[in-house]
Order: sequence, then structure tokens, then C-alpha cells
Amino acid sequence: MKDIMPPPPALVHQEQKAIQELFHKNVLPTYSRFDLVLNRGQGSWLFDVNGRRYLDLGGGIAVCALGHAHPAITEALVEQSRRLVHVSNLYYHEPQGRLAQKIVSHLADGKVFFCNSGAEANEGLYKLARKFGHADGRFEILTALNSFHGRTLAGIAATGQDKVKKGFEPMVPGFRHVPYNDLDSVRAALSPSTVAILIEGIQGEGGIAPASREYLLGLRALCDEKRLLLLMDGVQCGHFRTGRFQSFQRALEDTAGGEGFLPDGLSMAKSLGGGFPIGAFWVRERHAGLLGPGSHGTTYGGTPLGCAVALKVFEIIEKEGLADNARQVGEFLQRELLRLQALHPRLLANVRGVGLMIGFELARNIPAFAGSEKAPSQQMVARLQEAGVIVIPSGTHVLRLLPALNLSRAEAEQGIEIIESVLAKLA
Ligand SMILES: *Cc1c(COP(=O)(O)O)cnc(C)c1O
Repeated sequence: MKDIMPPPPALVHQEQKAIQELFHKNVLPTYSRFDLVLNRGQGSWLFDVNGRRYLDLGGGIAVCALGHAHPAITEALVEQSRRLVHVSNLYYHEPQGRLAQKIVSHLADGKVFFCNSGAEANEGLYKLARKFGHADGRFEILTALNSFHGRTLAGIAATGQDKVKKGFEPMVPGFRHVPYNDLDSVRAALSPSTVAILIEGIQGEGGIAPASREYLLGLRALCDEKRLLLLMDGVQCGHFRTGRFQSFQRALEDTAGGEGFLPDGLSMAKSLGGGFPIGAFWVRERHAGLLGPGSHGTTYGGTPLGCAVALKVFEIIEKEGLADNARQVGEFLQRELLRLQALHPRLLANVRGVGLMIGFELARNIPAFAGSEKAPSQQMVARLQEAGVIVIPSGTHVLRLLPALNLSRAEAEQGIEIIESVLAKLA
């Protein structure tokens, strides 16, 4: 092989500008990217093409649950790809069955469908709802203002933010938005066509807003009363990020009767594959017959390779107690950010979150940000990046921390040090 195969093109040796030029010439400009060209990662550290290292507190937007280049993931990829990568869903194989069992064991009796992304997982929930209401002509799904459910055509219709819809009208019919965490608004918005309610357990793109326990319990009761499906999008807030498998389990853990709370359908993706693209939705047992043979499908859903990796991610999270780590390191980060807010009340307006899903909101009218057209959140991300830490913007004023679940206390301390130094310069 060595003799006939030329060495791979030395892409990683090209300089930053040349790589960026490849993008500008050949990649659709749908993203506004930060000025950073990455080529290697190790745990919670990322390295750019110039050899500079960054502490990654963004986790690839809540995806890299075990950080970068985790040896167990590498091993699962290598081992399973030597054995069997893909067979299609015409056949059975062990990894998909075992992964479904794993997900069910963390929720309750029910069944799982596998797909490839968060948007696609939510599409499955919309179809579940349509099927549920079909016989009596109900089809409308209520979602929350400021929500985010993905970028497919139905995903942008479901998403409660105008910016994702603009220019793509007319919207897929059957979605209406109501204020989040406001049970009365849901009640008032119900129509004879309403068949389901879909919410995020913690709004992510909307700036880190957790659903209150009263809201969750109230929605459950309302859905039971009106025969509606309660659907939850756990794509960003799920997979142990809050210290429990799902955010609603964390929100209700000290609530009488809260342990019995369940949605009727739940979507997952992001951390599920730790960086390997895989999505899924779980359907509660009583509704698991709605999507029968021929009603839904996707070629790549639940491949042996994807499922083997996701099983390994579950295994490491459980073996290494990473749910507890997310809780503890998350509490440390939030405490420290609150300290920084007290220190710099003119810079930080708010700190909030659960576990390793944390948002901090910039104050309005920070003089250093006034001169640029870019949103303050974008400018702050760039400054933090320059100082060596990666975080994710959310809207115009919020910054998000969505790091690996195995982020260490020492790494969290380094992150806070860098954030503190950047704030000190802004003050
Ligand atoms: C990221 C995200 C999605 C979309 O997931 P994709 O994999 O990008 O399609 C849907 N819902 C929520 C809450 C998300 O954070």
C-alpha cells in the first residue's frame, strides 16, 4: 500500500489564511465563523494550526461529552469499524438494541428510534404528534417563544425565534408559540386542533432558561386532562449535563411525586454520540405503537458504528461518575461566575444554569463594545478566545458554557482565571 498510495495532502501544514480561503471559496457561507482554525484536541483542550492551545468550555456546543480524542471513543470506533459499520435498518444488530435498552433504562418503559441529528429527532416527535391526532383531525403543536428545535423546514416552524424563519416563509403549518414557563398562556392558547406541547427542559439557544418544576408538573397535568402529548427536546440539556440523565429528572428530584414525571416523547442528540453524529427519540410505552412498520425511517439511523460509540459514551459517563462531576464542577463554575458578577456588576448582569449548562449575561451598554457592529456576545467570545478560552454565544448578550462532562476542577479554575482577566481589562 505504501508504494502506491501518495501521502495525504498536507492540509494541516497549510497556514491559517490558506485554510480560511478554502472555506471562503468553497463552503456555503451559512455560518459566521470565529477567526480560529483548529486541528487537534486533547481532553478539554483544543489546538489551532499555529500551535496555540485553548481551554474548550464550549464542548462543540454541548456535543463533546468526554472532551476531545478520548481513547475509549477511539477504541470503540476502531473496534466496531473493523467488525461492522453499516447494514441498514432492514436487519437486526446488537449495538442498536443495546443502546435502545440503555436509553430506556434511564427513562421508563418505552421505545427508541435512532436518527442522525437533533433536528431529525424532533421531526420524529412532530410525526408522532400528527399520528396521535390524525383520527380526530388534530395536528397543532404548541412550542415556546425563544425555543430552538433545529433548522429543517418543520424545525424552523417549531422554533420560537423569528430570525430562523426569516426568508423561508411560508412556514410549515401546525406550530404556534407561547411564552415559556407560563402555564396560563398554554392553557389560553389551546385550540380544538392542538395535539401536543413541545418544550426544551432548559432553553439553550434561547439563553439558558430552565423550565420550573411547577411548569413541568402543570404541563403534565394539562396534557393528561386535554389528551395532548407532552414532548420534550433534550438535545442540548440532556445526557447527564445537568447531573441527571435528563434535565427534568434533575428539576424534579426533590419534588414530591416528581420522580414519576415523564414526557410522552423525548428527543436526544448532541452529547449522545460524544462527537459522533447520532440522534434519537424515545416514546413512552403507551404511545410506542403509533409509529408502526413503514411509518418512519432513515438510512443511517442507529448504525452499528454510531451505536457502539454512543454505548461507550454511556459506559464512561457511568463508570467515571461524570453526572456527579457535571453537578459539582458546574456548581463551582456558577459560584465563581457569581463572584465575578459581584466584582463587576457593570459587566455581568446575570448568571444562571444547571450543572454544566451555564449562561452568563453581559450588562447593557458596556463602553468597550460600543464601537463595533458585532453583538456584545460575539465581541466577548472573541476576546475570551484571544485570552485562551472558548465559550459559545447565545443571542446578543449571553455567553454559554457547555463543556465536556469530564472537565476537571483544576481546568474549571483555569477557565475562571482567564474569564476574570478578560473582565478586569474591560472594566
Ligand atoms: C442543537 C439543537 C437542536 C438541533 O440539533 P441538530 O443536531 O443541530 O439538528 C435541536 N434542539 C435543541 C434544543 C438544540 O440545542
